[in-house]
Amino acid sequence: MNTTKTVNTHQASPLAPEWLQLPADLNVLHSPMWAGDVERNDDGELAINGIPVSRLREEFGTPLFVMSETDFRSRARAFKDAFDDAFADICGGVDVYYAGKSFLCSAVASWVADEGLRLDTCSGGELAVAAKAGIEGPHLGLHGNNKSDAEINRALDMKVGRIVVDSLAELERVAKIASDRSGVAKVMLRLTPGVHAHTHEFIATAHEDQKFGLSMAGDSTDEAGLSAAEEAVAAATSYASIELLGVHCHIGSQIFEADGFALAAAKLLDFLAAMQAKYSIVLPELDLGGGYGIAYTPVDSPRPPAEIAQAMAAVVRSKCAELNIQAPRISIEPGRAIVGPSTFTLYEVGTLKTVRVDSPTVSGDSADSGTANVTHPRRYVSVDGGMSDNARPVLYDADYSAILASRASAAAPQLSRVVGKHCESGDIVVRDVYLPEDVAAGDLLAVPGTGAYCWALSSNYNYLARPGVVAVRDGSTRLIVRGETEEDLLNRDMGVAND
Ligand SMILES: *Cc1c(COP(=O)(O)O)cnc(C)c1O
Repeated sequence: MNTTKTVNTHQASPLAPEWLQLPADLNVLHSPMWAGDVERNDDGELAINGIPVSRLREEFGTPLFVMSETDFRSRARAFKDAFDDAFADICGGVDVYYAGKSFLCSAVASWVADEGLRLDTCSGGELAVAAKAGIEGPHLGLHGNNKSDAEINRALDMKVGRIVVDSLAELERVAKIASDRSGVAKVMLRLTPGVHAHTHEFIATAHEDQKFGLSMAGDSTDEAGLSAAEEAVAAATSYASIELLGVHCHIGSQIFEADGFALAAAKLLDFLAAMQAKYSIVLPELDLGGGYGIAYTPVDSPRPPAEIAQAMAAVVRSKCAELNIQAPRISIEPGRAIVGPSTFTLYEVGTLKTVRVDSPTVSGDSADSGTANVTHPRRYVSVDGGMSDNARPVLYDADYSAILASRASAAAPQLSRVVGKHCESGDIVVRDVYLPEDVAAGDLLAVPGTGAYCWALSSNYNYLARPGVVAVRDGSTRLIVRGETEEDLLNRDMGVAND
């Protein structure tokens, strides 16, 4: 690859958001956003494990989710190893549950098991995938704030290692179902520690206003002033059909700093110590959830798992010493941080359109009707997918990045917006990115960091077929989820009545 440094003399667009830097070279990959085996090859084309994207297009079509199996496995292992190392002297290691909701199919579930991780599910459907992959029940967890009786029964049939109970009502239900089967349900209680992560910072509140979990705030809902969390512990230990393993919390997603996790860990350990003092109950496990952040754009800088693991371990170690309790076995539930960076979405460029946009108004500037309007170009680059394969920009205002994948280009950067083909003006894939001026119909674009919550949230809006997922490893490809066909789209349509 040509590594000559090009000094960029181009001007940043006034329409660009403040965080978006004009890249020195549009051909260079910002490595934290990409799987480890993605690079630009000698022809200037994006390649994964040596396979150029043009070959992927020929074989599988676009849009396409392209997942590096090697990268997925190494991130899974990195979490397991980093947390095992950091917690070895505290509780002998950590159980890492991959959060299946971020992306799940049986191939991925089997990689998770191969790498020594367990699997978190949150529905009967996800349990079905786990069963198809042959994951052992004890290596599964079941989450959810509204589990059906059928899901609870299925979990008990499969002998899942833990059902994470979300409310007092559900605790009673699980106890009853397990008792009717003359069985025992292994249960964790999901608590809301009042620590909420907002990406770069976290907030701490006593009361949580959300559907998940049992509140740790002692309040008036109980006559004795007990928190819902404490009530649940007392209740759980009174049921013969419940084996209470411990408590759980999940403080949010796309978190970069360890502070929020550490504060939540400290609060939960306080709680375990209080339960031990008051009821002589020793709960052996503590799950600190997922939420580890990844790089979606060049401004995101996630910390290596080891750094976060060590910061969390330091808090658990000192807190347990302070409280004089034995450290519980720790578990965590990363999803996005394992699968997110392993995958990029490959799209084909279609219609290009440049619009002129008024200068963003500077506050204090009075709109003087006498001066000519200054406008700036914004180019809309339409691709053959959109909000049906990536709903996150619409749902969460999420930022992504994109590069020209089918070739290198020395053309000038142009502020661009990558949009989909849906009948919705909010159908944006990448809100703001500099792409080479010469991007043309038929070029391929790649959007990195789409492994988590993209395919998982995909839809058939406008009767678009959902893309397939191809896994790449050791220079070969394997379709792990095939793309939908028109026949799939019509499969459930019961047809025109012919009476
Ligand atoms: C979503 C979720 C996770 C995974 O979150 P990531 O941000 O993907 O790591 C883990 N645990 C629970 C309970 C969740 O709801």
